[in-house]
Amino acid sequence: MELLGIKVGNGLGLGKCLFVDTKLPNLNQETATSLEEEVIKVNNAIDEAIKDYEDIIASLDDEDLKSLTEFNKNVLISPSIKKDITNIINDKKCYGDLAIDIYFNNKIKQLENLDNNYLKERAKDVKDIRHKVLSKYYGIVEFNPDNLKEDVILVSHEMTANVLLTDNIEHIKGIVSELGGKTSHIGILTTSLGIPSIFGIDIKNLKNDELLFIDGNKGIIENELSEERIKEIKEKIATELALAKELDDIKEARTLDNYLFEVSANTGDLTELERIDEIPLDGIGLFRTEFLYLNKTTPPDEDYLFEVYKSFATKLNGKQMIIRTLDIGGDKKCPYIDIGEEANPFLGYRAIRYCLDHKDFFKTSLKAILRASAFGNIAIMYPMISSIEELRQANLILEEAKQDLRDNKISFKEDIKVGIMVEIPAVAAMADMMIEEVDFFSIGTNDLVQYTTAVDRGNTKISKLYEWFNPGVIRLIKNAIDVTKNYDDKFVGMCGEMAADPLGIILLVGLGLDEFSVNINTVKKTKKYISLLNKKETEEFVKTLLNLKTVKEIEDKLNKFANEKYGKYY
Ligand code: PEP
Ligand code: MG
Repeated sequence: MELLGIKVGNGLGLGKCLFVDTKLPNLNQETATSLEEEVIKVNNAIDEAIKDYEDIIASLDDEDLKSLTEFNKNVLISPSIKKDITNIINDKKCYGDLAIDIYFNNKIKQLENLDNNYLKERAKDVKDIRHKVLSKYYGIVEFNPDNLKEDVILVSHEMTANVLLTDNIEHIKGIVSELGGKTSHIGILTTSLGIPSIFGIDIKNLKNDELLFIDGNKGIIENELSEERIKEIKEKIATELALAKELDDIKEARTLDNYLFEVSANTGDLTELERIDEIPLDGIGLFRTEFLYLNKTTPPDEDYLFEVYKSFATKLNGKQMIIRTLDIGGDKKCPYIDIGEEANPFLGYRAIRYCLDHKDFFKTSLKAILRASAFGNIAIMYPMISSIEELRQANLILEEAKQDLRDNKISFKEDIKVGIMVEIPAVAAMADMMIEEVDFFSIGTNDLVQYTTAVDRGNTKISKLYEWFNPGVIRLIKNAIDVTKNYDDKFVGMCGEMAADPLGIILLVGLGLDEFSVNINTVKKTKKYISLLNKKETEEFVKTLLNLKTVKEIEDKLNKFANEKYGKYY
């Protein structure tokens, strides 16, 4: 049986299905036989949970995972926790599990009722901690990735990042979750660790211990595998591994008829600075500045931002670095940025909309970028632009930031390039007017698809409608690309996930995209796919797609072409 879900982490994996939702027994509502014993059991459970977190912290290299685990540990070492739970046991004369549950439920409610979105999010972490302490209390052996002896695909109703709190991911061949989106913590982790992952799968169709095949490139899970199919899958995985090895030699994205395309990386993660020399990237097509603002309690200052940008720009050694100004709001929340409650956050007070209303805050962020432009090939990009007025207003603030620097005799690149994300349909439709006032476009399909098809990108119930091969979306992309061709000194890139999709690459090469900006882990693969195509032939092929009316027809034709051109690599 084949199950289709949302593609989150690329790659192929074969392993036994392992459900990691440890179901806890029902809480004991009776009067406890010995209150002292319950207090001891609870205290031991808390100590064991702290010890688990300490062991995890000691074994981790990844800083993000470490800080997540530190938070969990700190909740448990708070001096009042044991006292408070003891008081509940004594007051209610109840068993320890009920007291633990009451204690943590209060904490969760307090966090959920706060106005601060960052702290609200922490309620989920406290639920994880409650689960851990209760498991210890009952003596349930929790899933521990360190103990895995065979290849598995982890399956859960709502997977949490806890399952990856280990440096021992060798046997984790895939992640399947019913709930969660690409931008959830676990989604981001699986992508950066290179683990295939698919969300939005109805997991009741899967059985513990059965063999599963996960195809993260296509978003498909297969079960009930025949011997013959297992053999095919093993060959496919072996080819993928061989391909990964071959990719080590790849340098350029040069088509068979000798056209060179740029393939850059999307980053913003400080831990990826060191990888810039290892990966054959042509630049950074999207530096997500929001990573420097999220998970902090106060805004980063100008000097800090400047130092980060400077370190990346210097390391890039002349290659272009496109820095996107703060893209906050939607599903990206900061504790110190008060967006307020919104019925439709993705249509709300986001990104440039917030920045234009907070001029000093925005100016500080622009000054940091401008100062760094003296040390490398930096360009500025505004997110979520929906009108010419917004662009002009942002440029006025940029001019003020430049003047401040001139007044203080601080150097920067006077003619720094300024571009916009094309991620709102209105802008894609008026691309001919927009291009007159910018140096470049970067098409943000993650949002462009969501807004054009009116499909919330994180809503698993409607994920099947989230299609970048929707003819309406293709027309907008084509329009944004076409208008740039009237200018020799302007370019158009794409930094949405579509740019790394093997079928998307065919369409985009055929439409004449100049720059593909993809997750740092897929730069080599994207270059390989482009180098297997003939540009002129692909252009002719793509023309035949433009009048097709359904996604299915477009995908079928693309698939056929991909099989012919990519061969064993597909
Ligand atoms: C996009 O919308 O395509 C994009 C790259 O930005 P983000 O995913 O951060 O919204
Ligand atoms: Mg976007």
